[in-house]
Order: sequence, then C-alpha cells, then structure tokens
Amino acid sequence: MSRVFVVNSGSSSIKYQLVDVESGEAVIGGLVERIGEPGGDAADHSEGMRLVLDRLGAAGDDASFVAVGHRVVHGGSLFTAPTLVTDEVVAQIERVSALAPLHNPANLAGIRAARAVMTDVPHVAVFDTAFHQSMPAEAYTYAIDRDVAQAHGVRRYGFHGTSHEFVAGRAAALLGRPLEQLKLIVLHLGNGSSATAIDGGRSIDTSMGLTPLEGLVMGSRSGDVDPGALLHLLRTGLSVDELDRLLNKRSGLLGLTGRGDMRDVVQAADDGDADARLALDVWAHRIRHYVGAYLAQLGGLDALVFTAGIGENSPVMRARAVAGLQHLGLSIDDDRNAMSWREPREISPEGAAVKVLVVPTNEELAIARAAAALAG
Ligand code: AMP
Repeated sequence: MSRVFVVNSGSSSIKYQLVDVESGEAVIGGLVERIGEPGGDAADHSEGMRLVLDRLGAAGDDASFVAVGHRVVHGGSLFTAPTLVTDEVVAQIERVSALAPLHNPANLAGIRAARAVMTDVPHVAVFDTAFHQSMPAEAYTYAIDRDVAQAHGVRRYGFHGTSHEFVAGRAAALLGRPLEQLKLIVLHLGNGSSATAIDGGRSIDTSMGLTPLEGLVMGSRSGDVDPGALLHLLRTGLSVDELDRLLNKRSGLLGLTGRGDMRDVVQAADDGDADARLALDVWAHRIRHYVGAYLAQLGGLDALVFTAGIGENSPVMRARAVAGLQHLGLSIDDDRNAMSWREPREISPEGAAVKVLVVPTNEELAIARAAAALAG
C-alpha cells in the first residue's frame, strides 16, 4: 500500500489529497479555507494542519501514508528535482522566497506545520520550476545588465513544470514512443497558462519567466507586455502595488472582458459581445505566437499537447488555438475534438504527421509519485 499525502498550501488555504500511487486515485481530498480570516477554518497554518490531521484520523487506517509531498512554487536555481525536506532545505526554500513573495512563504508555512504534526514520515518538496532547470542559457537569460540580473536572480525559471513533465510522459505513452525521441509542445491552458517546448523529455523553453506572469493570456494575468509599457504606467503615477494588481488580478481575460472564466467569455462572444470576441482572438493569437516560436526552437514536432481546464475541456478553444496552422502540419479532426473523455486521446486526423493530443494533467499524482520514489 503506497499512499502519499499531498499538500498544496496557499496563503489562506491548505488543499490536500491522499493519493494512492498505484491506482492514481485520490482516496481522500479536502480543503481548509480562509486561514487567518474572521470565521475561517483555522487561525494559522499550524492550526489548519492539525485540523487536517484530525480529519485524516477520523478516516482511520485507510488514511495512513508513506510520505508527504509538498507543492512549492519557486525553487530558484537551487532545486532541479523533487527534494527530501530537511532543515537545510527549508532554509534554502526560504532563501529563494524573495522570487515568489506571494507563494513560497505560504508553501513554507504548510511544510513547517506538516512537519510538526506528521513526524514519522519523510516530507518531499516538489517544485513548479524544477523541470525547467534544463533550459539552455540562451532560453533563460534576459538581455539586461548581467550584474543586475545576477545580483537579483533575474532570469527565466518557468512554472507548471510538474504538469508539463507529467503530461509529456503520458503523451509519450499514448504515442507508444520513448519520450527521449520526441519533440513536444505542451499547452497548459487553465486559469494560469503556459507553453513549454520539450525535446527528448527535457524542457528547452517555456513561456513563463522570473514569475508566473510572462507569456500567454491568462484568466486575470496579462502574459507578455512590453516592459516599456510598464515604465510608462509607473510614470503616469501608478504605484508599484497598483501595477502588480493590474497585471496579476485585473488583466488577461478578466481585464479584456470583465469575465475571468473562459466559459463565460466564450458565452459572451457567442452572444455577440465585441470585447469577448477580441479577447478570444488575442488569447489564440498569443498561443500561435508561442507554437510557432517553439516549432522553430525544436526544429520539428511530433505532437502538440493540450492540458488543464481549458485545454482539456474546450473543443472550441482548442480549435481556435490551432486555426490556420495547417501549413505547419497541425490540424484537428472535428469529431475527435468534440468528444469529451477523461483519458489521454488524439484529436488530429487519422495518420497526421504531427499529432494533436489532449492529455489530462494531474499534479497531485505527479507530486505523490515523486514523493513516493524519494521516500523509497
Ligand atoms: P484550471 O486552472 O486548470 O482549473 O482551469 C480553469 C479554467 O478552465 C477556467 O477558465 C475555466 O473556465 C476553464 N474551463 C473549464 N471547463 C471549461 C469548458 N468546458 N470550456 C471552456 N473553459 C473551461
């Protein structure tokens, strides 16, 4: 019986799943919410984690596990793989936290709280950035003053790595070919979105950068914007915090349409809303921009892979994303695309040289597997 307890600790919530590594099933799952808020589930992460443990205890023997897997957003340049948590590792995660001030401290609070109450099992940290540490220097280097970049850790790191890696493995299995021989582009299209070019199982380029703000158009995040536009806005008197809110919380689909959920934007576009139509065009245009770029970086392509909320569930937006790319060998079979199904599947026409796939992601299972492997 190998079950892993997977923890995703945010600033005001703890999401958890008890995952059976063999079957891939989540045996127990839950959420502690509004931590630290009046009327919330818990006053702080320690109390929240004790609550989680009580809930697990109530489930009896079924709730035992061999390891705890923690999602950590930013591993900086330090972490290239899942890592057994020690006091030293906690200190290292703390050291790179300046790069992700919203996420890493919350992840650390979860790690500390869990280590305090789950003392007899190994804890493993799994980093969103780790998979992308294989990017070559030309892909991760911003062309700014090298001393400034060095002093502040300013380079591209990439995110969603756990998802991109998991999905790439599943895609190879579906294609029946070794991952080491494949050139893939994975489009993780959810509330947060990113594209990754994967050559032989290694990330060689990805659309998110120093932070999860660069790249594709997201639910409320802008993706790529001319850095000069940001300087311009600062000079108009916008504060740094206001600019932060603008780019992270008031941009993307939400900024363009007043709606952050793709389903609502598609509905509005169908109803004739001009802003919604433009937003979908901008969204798809940005995706094609990256697909073209990554085709060039990879020097060929075996498969384009859709995953996450939009990528897995929206035939309409998948079709929009690849519209007009037939000359690159990329096309979709409408009937295959229309099928909804929770399993990895091909949606390109029979015999297509470049496959288009839909592969559901499962970050909790990926974290559980990584933790189980390290826990031995
Ligand atoms: P995620 O962050 O992976 O959970 O994805 C969330 C996003 O997926 C939201 O923007 C949802 O609107 C979108 N989504 C989920 N189901 C659908 C669907 N059937 N059609 C369009 N978008 C969807």
